[in-house]
Amino acid sequence: MSEQEKLELAVRGMTCDSCALHVTRALQSVSGVRAVDVPNWQSGRATVTVEAGTEAEVLTAAVGEVGYAATVKSRQAASSPVPGNDKRGDFDLMVIGGGSAGFAAAIKGAELGFKVALVEVATIGGTCVNVGCVPSKTLIRSVELYHLAGQHRFRGVHTAPGRINWPEVIAHKDELVNEMRQAKYADVLAAYPEITYIQGRAKLTGKNGVEIDGKRYTPGKIIIATGAKPWAPPIPGLAEAGYLDSTSALDLKELPKSMIVLGANAVGLELAQVYARAGTYVTVLEVLPRIAPFEDSDISTALTEYLEEEGLRIVPNFKTTRVEKRDGRTILTGTKNNAEVTFEAEQLLVATGRRPNTAGMGLEEAGVTLGKRGEVVVNENLQTDNPFVYAAGDVTGRDMFVYVAAYSGMLAAENALTNAGRTYDVSYIPRITFTDPQIASAGLTEDQAREQGYEVKVSTLPMVHVPRALAARDTRGLIKLVGNVATDQLLGAHIFAPEAGEMIQTAVLAIRFGISVRELRETMFPYLTNAEGLKLATLAFEKDVAKLSCCAG
Ligand SMILES: Cc1cc2nc3c(=O)[nH]c(=O)nc-3n(C[C@H](O)[C@H](O)[C@H](O)COP(=O)(O)OP(=O)(O)OC[C@H]3O[C@@H](n4cnc5c(N)ncnc54)[C@H](O)[C@@H]3O)c2cc1C
Repeated sequence: MSEQEKLELAVRGMTCDSCALHVTRALQSVSGVRAVDVPNWQSGRATVTVEAGTEAEVLTAAVGEVGYAATVKSRQAASSPVPGNDKRGDFDLMVIGGGSAGFAAAIKGAELGFKVALVEVATIGGTCVNVGCVPSKTLIRSVELYHLAGQHRFRGVHTAPGRINWPEVIAHKDELVNEMRQAKYADVLAAYPEITYIQGRAKLTGKNGVEIDGKRYTPGKIIIATGAKPWAPPIPGLAEAGYLDSTSALDLKELPKSMIVLGANAVGLELAQVYARAGTYVTVLEVLPRIAPFEDSDISTALTEYLEEEGLRIVPNFKTTRVEKRDGRTILTGTKNNAEVTFEAEQLLVATGRRPNTAGMGLEEAGVTLGKRGEVVVNENLQTDNPFVYAAGDVTGRDMFVYVAAYSGMLAAENALTNAGRTYDVSYIPRITFTDPQIASAGLTEDQAREQGYEVKVSTLPMVHVPRALAARDTRGLIKLVGNVATDQLLGAHIFAPEAGEMIQTAVLAIRFGISVRELRETMFPYLTNAEGLKLATLAFEKDVAKLSCCAG
C-alpha cells in the first residue's frame, strides 16, 4: 500500500443531502483519492484520504466545478487506511440479499463510485414485490372493488355483485407482480453496470470473507440484507396439521369456505378481510387483549366493530394450546378466560410474525452478534460487531417496512463505504395497516407519550365531522392527535379512515420537522378532502368541531 494523506476541507454552499452527495462524487472523481467522507451537508466539511502528493488545488477545483467552495483546513499523513476501503478485494462492497434493502444499498454503493456485488439466492426483488406489499395490496384492492359494488351507501345505487372470480383475481395479481419485478428490479439493475449480480447462497467465512456456492470472495465491506420469513409459534400439532403462511395465503387457487387467521397484526388483519370480503367465513384469533395490538386502543375498538359488521368473528385473549387435522378440517383448541374453547375451519392461516434469515450464514463465527430472534445486532450506524459487516432491512428484526428497508440499505452503504457516520432515525416513520378503513399512524400513541413522561393533550375527531367523509357517504373512522402541552408540537397522529394512508404524510412531516399544532391549524387544507380532517382535528384540541362552519378556523 502506498503512503496516504488525509485532508480536512471546509465546504461552503451545501444545503441538502444531495449537495453532500455531489461533493462526495466530485472528490471521488479526482485521481489519487482513496476515500471521501462528507458526514452530512450541515457539517460543511469533507475528509479526503489521498495518495501522498495529490495536489490539494485539484480537490478544491473539483468541488468548485459542481458549484460549491472548498478550502483546505488541514493536511496530515493518514494513520491507517479506512478498513476495507483499500480496493484490494474483488469488490469494494458485497451486498447479500436482493430485496429492497439490498437493492438500495447496491445502488447507493454504485452511485458513490464503488464496485459492488449484489448476491441473491432466490427470486430477484425479495419479499415486497414477490410475496409482500405488491401482491397483498393488489388483492386487497380487487376484493375492495367487489365489496363496494355490493354496498348501497348512495341512494339509487344498486349494483349487486355476482360471485367473485377468484382464479381471475389471483391471475391478475401474478401479472402485476411479474410486471413490477421486471420494471422495478430487473430493469433497474441493468441500468447499473457497476453492480455485478451473483445468483447463489452467500455465507461468511471469517472477518471479511464470503463464500457463494463454493467460490470465495474478499470484498472490502459486506452488507447483510437477507430479510425475514414467516414464523409460527411452537404450538403442539401445528407443524403436523400444516397451515398457510402469508406467502401461500396470497396464492390460494381456490376460495376456502372457512378460514381461521391466527394473529391480528397488519398482515393477519389485511388477509382476514380479503378472504372475508371474497366470501370466506373468517375467524380471527389473537392472543393479546385486542386486535391491532400496537395501535391506539380507540382504533382497535373501532376496527373490531367494523370487521364484525362485515361478518368476521373476532376473538382476542385466545391462547392456542393444540392443533389437529380431522376429516380435512383444522381444529384449534385453546383457552379464553380460563375456559377451553375450540375453533375449526377448512384453512388455517398463521400470521404471527416474521423472523430474520440468518441461520447457517456463518455470522456468529465471523464475529457478528445475533439477538434472541436471530436478528443481526447493529449499532446506530447499522454496523455489526464485525467492523467490516453492516446490516439493513428486515434482517435487523426491527421496523419491518419496505421503505425502512430501502432507507437503511442506503444508510448502511454510505456508512460502510465513506465512514459517513449517519444515524438510523425512524422516530417519525409512518405505519399503515391496509384494512378498510385503513389504520395510518406516526409517532407516539397517547399511552406511549404519557409513559415517556410528556404532558400530553389529545384531540379525537370522528370522521363524521369531515365534510369529505359526509360527501362520500362513508363516515367510518376517527382521527386522533397527540400533542406536547409544553411545546405545542405534534407527538403522534393516528388516523383510522378509508385511504388513511394518503392522509398521514402531513402528520409525518409535522412530527419530523417539529411543526406545531398551531402552525398546522393555521395552514390551509383543500376542501373537500379527507386530509382536511387533520386540520379539523387540530381545531378539536380547543373547539367543538360540530359547531364549525364550512372551512372555518
Ligand atoms: C404479506 C406482506 C405484506 C407486506 N406489506 C407491506 C406494505 O404494504 N408496506 C410495507 O412497507 N411493507 C410491507 N411488508 C414488509 C416488506 O415487504 C418488508 O419489510 C421488506 O420487503 C423487507 O425488505 P428486505 O430487503 O429487508 O428483505 P427481503 O425483501 O426479504 O430480501 C431479502 C433477500 O435476501 C435473500 N437471501 C436470504 N438469504 C440469503 C443468502 N444467504 N444469500 C443470498 N441471498 C439471500 C432472500 O432470498 C431475499 O430475496 C409486507 C410483508 C409481507 C410479508
